[in-house]
Amino acid sequence: MLWFREGLYQSLKTLTPQEEFSASPGLSPGRPVPTAMEDAALGTICPTHALREQEGLVEIDYARCIQCHFCHQRTPGMNWEAGYHWAQMKSPGLPAPFRHSLQVRVIDAGDCGACLNEIHQLASPVYSLHRFGISFTPAPRDADVLMVTGPVTVSMKEALEETFEAVPEPKRVMAVGTCALSGGIFSSSFAVVGPVDQVIPVDIEIPGCPPPPLAILDGFRLIMGVRSKYPIKEG
Ligand code: SF4
Ligand code: SF4
Repeated sequence: MLWFREGLYQSLKTLTPQEEFSASPGLSPGRPVPTAMEDAALGTICPTHALREQEGLVEIDYARCIQCHFCHQRTPGMNWEAGYHWAQMKSPGLPAPFRHSLQVRVIDAGDCGACLNEIHQLASPVYSLHRFGISFTPAPRDADVLMVTGPVTVSMKEALEETFEAVPEPKRVMAVGTCALSGGIFSSSFAVVGPVDQVIPVDIEIPGCPPPPLAILDGFRLIMGVRSKYPIKEG
């Protein structure tokens, strides 16, 4: 509740759109970045098999990384970053009319709760998603973006397919979190079908377990084509 107390004292806590998003040390666990291979074992220590050696570098498969810090705390370990440019586009952003207003339908396909919690933070006064013209909607027929969290569970597969069909064109699907991208720590569960792209086409990927709110905002900025207008200052 620190932001709430600060807001009372300052009268204004929300950032204006003209300001850069500042990196917020401590809010995000950050993530590993490609690192020179100084120890032959480094590429083999990841519990989720997210690290691999490639031409003298240890590369990261962010779709598998759960940001456990194991490779970072080790000596020699992986280098680490605290930035928020995590979103990856797999298809073009939405056309120009969507650059001022976006309706988002969130669907939990099997989330543990943490990814959804980070999405909820976006509506708080600190991130104030609405000032960008972005709103959450319960109605798929009103949505421009379908945001999916969690691995797709057997019981949610049909609901996800039907929700995808109900969203009108042009639409984009945003997969949020390691589980949505690869199945994550639940990938071997009997109750899981697989990552989101095994069920519906995915246009934008936000890795992280869970991704912090600024990384999710980065995805919206990409979809709306305003990444350069509202930059995020790297930490
Ligand atoms: S932070 Fe954890 S999950 Fe991510 S690459 Fe390092 S060891 Fe693997
Ligand atoms: S990616 Fe991590 S935080 Fe998100 S649903 Fe999976 S386990 Fe939970």
